[in-house]
Amino acid sequence: MTDNKLIEKYQEMSDLTWPKCRDCPSKLGAFGCCNRTACEITLSWARERWGVDLRPQFDEKQKVPFMGKRGCKIEPHLRPQCTVYTCKIHAFGADPDANWTHKYFKLRNKIDDLEWRHYEKQKRRELKND
Ligand code: SF4
Ligand code: SF4
Repeated sequence: MTDNKLIEKYQEMSDLTWPKCRDCPSKLGAFGCCNRTACEITLSWARERWGVDLRPQFDEKQKVPFMGKRGCKIEPHLRPQCTVYTCKIHAFGADPDANWTHKYFKLRNKIDDLEWRHYEKQKRRELKND
């Protein structure tokens, strides 16, 4: 249940952040922050947290291995560090659009809470099995 909700919330977050990076105002251009290191983090996280092997989609020939024609090819919950990232939030803690910022943090708090609940559940399970 928690995981289904999380998948849904990460998709909503991606719907919110994706247009910002598609219309990137910087010299980097659309999705210009994407880089190989972040793709490698996604590869590990997807396997460790979700048991998903993304290697078949990891294109070694590309500078940014998970980049597709319309941005990232990977589902938003498998790449949380990218899904929640925008340069404005990272640098200033807010976007110039106050309504957007409000929506962002409402969603981000929900995601953090659900991830925390998942972590707690997992810890309890591990302690029980010790
Ligand atoms: S995070 Fe900022 S600089 Fe990077 S692609 Fe998105 S809008 Fe552009
Ligand atoms: S959004 Fe996708 S393509 Fe961009 S760095 Fe993250 S995993 Fe790689």
